[in-house]
Amino acid sequence: MPRIKKVLVVGGGTAGWLAACYLAKAMNSAAPDSVQVELVESPNIRLLGVGEATFPSIRGTLAAIGLDERRFLVGATATFKQGIQYVNWVRPPGTPGADRFFHPFNTPSRRPGSPELLPYWLLGAAPAGTPFAEAVTMQSRLVEHGRAPKHASDADYQAPMNHAYHFDAAAFAATLAEHGQGLGVKRHLATVERTELDERGNIARVVTAELGALTADLYVDCTGLRGSLIGGAMRSAFRSRRDVLFVDRAVALQVPYPAPDTPILPYTRATAQSAGWIWDIGLQQRRGIGHVYSSRHMDATQAEEIARRYVGAAADKLEAQHLKFETGYRPEHWRGNCVAVGLAGGFVEPLESTGIALVELAVCMLTHLFPADHDDMERTARRFNEMMVARYERIIDFIKMHYCLSQRRDSAFWIDNSNPASIPQSLRDRLQLWRRRPPHRLDFVTDLEMFMPASWQYVLYGMEFKTDLEHARSAWPQMDEARREFAMIQQMAGRALQDLPDHRALVEQLCRQH
Ligand code: FAD
Repeated sequence: MPRIKKVLVVGGGTAGWLAACYLAKAMNSAAPDSVQVELVESPNIRLLGVGEATFPSIRGTLAAIGLDERRFLVGATATFKQGIQYVNWVRPPGTPGADRFFHPFNTPSRRPGSPELLPYWLLGAAPAGTPFAEAVTMQSRLVEHGRAPKHASDADYQAPMNHAYHFDAAAFAATLAEHGQGLGVKRHLATVERTELDERGNIARVVTAELGALTADLYVDCTGLRGSLIGGAMRSAFRSRRDVLFVDRAVALQVPYPAPDTPILPYTRATAQSAGWIWDIGLQQRRGIGHVYSSRHMDATQAEEIARRYVGAAADKLEAQHLKFETGYRPEHWRGNCVAVGLAGGFVEPLESTGIALVELAVCMLTHLFPADHDDMERTARRFNEMMVARYERIIDFIKMHYCLSQRRDSAFWIDNSNPASIPQSLRDRLQLWRRRPPHRLDFVTDLEMFMPASWQYVLYGMEFKTDLEHARSAWPQMDEARREFAMIQQMAGRALQDLPDHRALVEQLCRQH
């Protein structure tokens, strides 16, 4: 069987350029020029241009493709993200009681020899009223004070605090395009007009308006929501999950800061609304705001009004961008000699920023499972598809948990989200088990999860979920040790507050050093 020698990536958004960079770097570092990577992108079809928040895995990905952190920060106008703050998710606005919680990227503190803190927090060993995330990690307090996750002297992508980034998606794609060409990726500017199949149903060539036919052994479909190759010529079906996750529209605004020294939020703020939620992301020169909503529960005019009201007077002269999407995925991301990466393969709504992380996962798997020859393609595709489906389903459960644990019943959207028929059985089972015991790592299959147990715990207890451990109190005898640990975390937070720089100050310093 002939070897796979040439890959053609179709599409030049985040997915396309990340795939091309990753493949070029990983495949050719051991044996130079073993696989030729080419990318074709349309000069006429715009990339999606949102996708501003990422997941901590992005640091490993950027390091793996060899992109210098300062160059990335300048090119993508990036800032640091240390988690997500949730506002009004538990109760509607105006109800007594603070309604905000934080999902930090740091895992709960666990020093050698000290007990796991979650059961002790549930049994009341932390100072009364301390939210779970605040009790078990210093990160919540640091971000409240606008701290950066690292010092300027820390190595690229290394930091005392776990973090990801916020960035401008179009600027990020442009930075990757420049970097990718440095890695040997050949770029074509042309629009694919049709895809032609061979007699076995594999792609024989894509035909462009400007350059005629382009051929490869493997085609990576990164054409965004169009999924032109995988959904078009290859007819790989889309499995909708809008029965579980209802939001399917967004209206986005780019809001300049009122002054050049306006503090930059070191986390994403997600504020629940009557038919969805609003993301609020701090970039270097502006905020990115987007109201994500369910078109079944709200119309576009009302959604835009809500987004504008959220921003206030600063939104008056701004143009709003309206977007459509649907939660779901193609169970066959890979069919024949075509593999979809990014929106072409699927998308789970923007909560918790899984879009780019799924791109990272796909390109990492594609590289590591890369078929040696055409004969291996089908076996590799089966493995790849299994892993992608498992990830999607687990992510969908995790995101649904944010909605179904809400006590909000102030609109049809929230009432519908609490309907058991909309909650996958796998999630219902877990929630039921966790009423009598906290989540354990054995509830998860690490290789298939994007969200580790800590993330589930932060959201679960942030949403005021109740796990009753009273019946097993004697199984947790280290109350005094746990109390000392909770006190220690607060002391360490006090010291880190003195030590870590202000977020904007660090971003500006790193960009100046570029
Ligand atoms: P696109 O950005 O749409 O790029 C498609 C590319 O294909 C373009 O270059 C286009 O020119 C090219 N193309 C299309 N057709 C052709 C053709 N026929 N010939 C040649 N080229 C072609 N992800 C996150 O991680 N975090 C977030 O906060 C986040 N927020 C989101 C909010 C919304 C409302 C939506 C809808 C998505 C969000 N995502 C987010 C997902 C994220 O935007 C995407 O996963 C990411 O940008 C990758 O997009 P893409 O490259 O697959 O597609």
